[in-house]
Amino acid sequence: MEGVCLQHGDGTETVQALDNVDLAVRPGELAAIVGPSGAGKSSLLAVAGGLARPDRGTVTVAGVDITAAGARARARLRREHVGFVFQAGNLIPALTARDQLRLPLRFRPRRARSGRDPLALLEDVGMADRADRYPHQLSGGERQRVGIARALVTRPSILLVDEPTAALDRARSHEIVRLLARESQHHGVAAIMVTHDHDVLEHCDTVYEMIDGRLAALA
Ligand code: ADP
Ligand code: ADP
Repeated sequence: MEGVCLQHGDGTETVQALDNVDLAVRPGELAAIVGPSGAGKSSLLAVAGGLARPDRGTVTVAGVDITAAGARARARLRREHVGFVFQAGNLIPALTARDQLRLPLRFRPRRARSGRDPLALLEDVGMADRADRYPHQLSGGERQRVGIARALVTRPSILLVDEPTAALDRARSHEIVRLLARESQHHGVAAIMVTHDHDVLEHCDTVYEMIDGRLAALA
């Protein structure tokens, strides 16, 4: 991201959610963003993933300037290059772990690179023996593992992760962030993780703090 600005609201009441944000994340890097509620962290993820278009500045994903792309092109870029991981996994209740991973593979653009094998990927995240379980049959940490696997199955260039440990205890939180770091590194994914959990920052390569829409490097 270069010089990214984003305002929310209309003419009368506006909030500068992103104020001249510069951020570069390399393939294989796990970058953490901490900061108080309302600082602009979700806005940053939305812009990085092509869900929102900045008012100013450029966002480049896998060499493509997504700020120049229209809504359809951005949707295609998202399905091909972006993996999202949400709080508490956000799994679909009616699908088994294996089917959660099959779904994004069906919606890829036709020319996209081939995806990862769902069962092999579930094995990588320690969930092979639970491939046929539904979300309600999994613990919180297990659901998050499936959520991470689902985000990675299309071989995205970037991974955008929103508070992945919000629902987990301390030990589980460390496991999940270690898994994110390992998967990003092994598969050359540029990962951005928003977190309130200072406890897990040791597993991240870089740490940024966001305050009032401004981003600054912490480590
Ligand atoms: P964080 O994720 O750090 O809590 P957000 O990116 O959600 O921060 O929000 C940044 C600022 O933008 C906050 O002041 C928030 O109230 C405001 N905001 C976020 N989304 C909207 C929206 N859709 N309309 C108006 N204001 C918004
Ligand atoms: P945690 O200690 O992480 O909170 P749980 O107590 O929720 O975990 O679950 C412990 C184990 O039991 C997990 O391996 C999970 O897969 C399994 N499990 C949890 N709920 C169910 C269920 N409804 N049916 C089958 N297995 C379940």
